[in-house]
Amino acid sequence: MPELQPASIVVSHGRPEPAPGAPVSPGIMTTSTYIAGGDHLYARSGNATWTAFETAVGALEGGTAQVFASGMGAIDAAFSLAAEGSGVLIPETAYNATLALSADLAATGRRHVTRVDITDTARAVAALADQRPAMLWLESPTNPLLGVADLARLSDAAHQHGALVVVDNTFATPLTQRPLDLGADVVVHSATKYLSGHSDVILGVTVTRDAGLADRLVEHRTTRGAIAGPFETWLALRGLRTLSVRFERACTNAATVADRLRKHPAVDVVRYPGFGAMVAIDVHGDAAAADRVCAATRLWTHATSLGGVESLLERRRHHANESDAVPDNLIRLSVGIEDVEDLWRDLTQALDAV
Ligand SMILES: *Cc1c(COP(=O)(O)O)cnc(C)c1O
Repeated sequence: MPELQPASIVVSHGRPEPAPGAPVSPGIMTTSTYIAGGDHLYARSGNATWTAFETAVGALEGGTAQVFASGMGAIDAAFSLAAEGSGVLIPETAYNATLALSADLAATGRRHVTRVDITDTARAVAALADQRPAMLWLESPTNPLLGVADLARLSDAAHQHGALVVVDNTFATPLTQRPLDLGADVVVHSATKYLSGHSDVILGVTVTRDAGLADRLVEHRTTRGAIAGPFETWLALRGLRTLSVRFERACTNAATVADRLRKHPAVDVVRYPGFGAMVAIDVHGDAAAADRVCAATRLWTHATSLGGVESLLERRRHHANESDAVPDNLIRLSVGIEDVEDLWRDLTQALDAV
């Protein structure tokens, strides 16, 4: 069979072996242990529901996947691939818990952490040559400024200096970019977001083509033991089946909303990379004006997180731990799959109020 397109992979992968009478959909494997002599020994190291989800996500990203209890669990495992005491080059702005984790690793002397603007390729390449880190951490588009990094050029430069490249692909999804094809060593996702897509599960995943790295990620998961539950993994796989149609609609809605926001007098800046379903705006006025917008919508829900079928918005600096590089009046919009005219009507009545 020729290599399938992503829209077919999300539907077809991770199903039971076809045989007369076999179930079409995978079950939820709830067992802590297995009868001796088979592939699995104990369920902290392996579970059939994990395998089903990992098969589908691995095929989408073009590697071998490892499911984790959360995106941060996957990110922690990926950071563990850089040795204690080694250097890690990270983005100036990125998902705030990733920055918090790297700050903790730095504060406790476990990594030397340097930050660089990864959207400035020349600066990032120079920092790689200067710092010679063991790992380059990338996130593209970045959260919440939606900056885009040149993954191919940065991966190439990192490899010239012997650094491992990790890419957080949560915002783009494998439908718009496959970092392993662009040279990255490891991809991480918060599967909480687009991959599962219904704001009802927390889950993470790593993907790599390198068998040695895959073994180390699995080893990390097995020995640390904060593993994904089979029910959560099953929910994520169920959500993944519709990723292609959900994401397609969300991206079309986001393009329309971003385009119209550019002409709205209550919006000073629109941040939209031209793909994906995340948009950020700087509201004309101060933080209080942005807060009033978030409080005034009815169809858009005022909540953190992203990537679900429902549209969400929030003022990012409302979180005390958000970076100072993020404007005080910036609202991040996760555009969902509702009717775009309903979304626009609700958003404009909220913006018109400020
Ligand atoms: C949400 C998010 C994470 C963290 O994932 P959890 O599933 O919440 O642990 C990491 N990176 C990005 C870009 C995110 O949006």
